[in-house]
Amino acid sequence: MKTTKKFQLAESEIPRQWYNIVADLPNQPRPLLNPQTREPLKPQEMEGLFAKELVAQEFSAQRWIDIPDEIVQLYKIYRPTPLVRARKLEKALDTPAKIYFKNESVSPVGSHKLNTAIAQAYYNSKQGIMRLTTETGAGQWGSAMSVACGYFGIELVVFMVKQSYEQKPYRKIVINTYGGKVHASPSSLTNYGRSVLESDPGCRGSLGMAISEAVEMAVTTPDTRYSLGSVLNHVLLHQTIIGLEAEKQMEMTGDYPDKVIACFGGGSNFSGISFPFLRHKLTGGRSVELIAAEPAACPKLTRGVLEYDFGDTAGMTPLIPMYTLGHDFQPEQIHAAGLRYHGGGQIVSQLKLDGFVNSCAIEQQETFAAGRLFAKTEGIIPAPESCHAIAATIREALKAKEAGRSEVLLFNLSGHGLLDMAAYESGCPDSIL
Ligand SMILES: *Cc1c(COP(=O)(O)O)cnc(C)c1O
Repeated sequence: MKTTKKFQLAESEIPRQWYNIVADLPNQPRPLLNPQTREPLKPQEMEGLFAKELVAQEFSAQRWIDIPDEIVQLYKIYRPTPLVRARKLEKALDTPAKIYFKNESVSPVGSHKLNTAIAQAYYNSKQGIMRLTTETGAGQWGSAMSVACGYFGIELVVFMVKQSYEQKPYRKIVINTYGGKVHASPSSLTNYGRSVLESDPGCRGSLGMAISEAVEMAVTTPDTRYSLGSVLNHVLLHQTIIGLEAEKQMEMTGDYPDKVIACFGGGSNFSGISFPFLRHKLTGGRSVELIAAEPAACPKLTRGVLEYDFGDTAGMTPLIPMYTLGHDFQPEQIHAAGLRYHGGGQIVSQLKLDGFVNSCAIEQQETFAAGRLFAKTEGIIPAPESCHAIAATIREALKAKEAGRSEVLLFNLSGHGLLDMAAYESGCPDSIL
């Protein structure tokens, strides 16, 4: 009887290059536009906002991009992360499907976000940038940036969506503990924040608003740049470390995933786990289905339209061709704050248009029921965001059962939910079974 559950790589097997899917896309996405001129954005125009190397990656079409040794050394703090066969979950579902998950919750901050935070802090530090600004929804990205900036001696200012700032005080303390400064957004520190507060003093904030504030502060403060935790091509690129490891680990299992599943906020953990597998399909040979699990309250891929839109609420970012619910869309206050972003990014949107990405929209109740079953069977309490991936995986496993079909499912456990217990208390019905 096969009982192996956990597939672990050696440190020496950490991939040394990230995978840039742009090199293999059948159709290139339309370019980013300068919001003033509506002309294609030139790399130089982004360099006031992001470190030069990150801008170069944003525009790169090179298939493999070397991971600098300093970054690999920091990855070794928590990478390679385990790939696990969820046998107890399979048993509870009584499904013929095999369920594997990549466990990104083992990072020091409890999510995949550190994979790009380390890279972004590194390239900024290499360029001599002393201060970074950013936004955070649930607090995961702020925590990751705070640790990463600490590694490189960079000062960090975080605009945290007010709703989360008040609902999730522990996340703020985590960011502070690592050395980052946190402000509730909308704040009175920026022109944009002040204008929002004037017209709506009780505003609970949104990711788009917090981005506007962080961008404004970065472009109006000397030696300061901005960092974004998802959506942009360079962020997706850094996250491919997840799927590149998983590719080697799936080889160890002797299985190949029929479906790769991840929750979808701005697309970084989804792209990170799935693009290395999609590469096999794009370059010939394998068939694999990609499923993005969205919250019903913010279903940009499932219900949005593909058009040019801003990345933030105030309209300060470049125009991005993406599936969007509109940059002023204000989603319901669901617990999965990291999924409350209005757009799907340039590359994923093109892949969706071309039929390489499927999506589903799931109600909060179902996601927490799935998360609770996962916690009971596999022992890890998943982040509310990750519960969406689990719910989508359970749907597929139950479909396979109904059809009497054996199938290999791989999902990304993007983070743990140990700082989200209030969400579990209020959002979690007993069971779905
Ligand atoms: C931020 C976050 C997400 C959503 O962001 P993506 O860029 O879509 O991956 C998902 N899960 C966790 C745990 C997060 O912190």
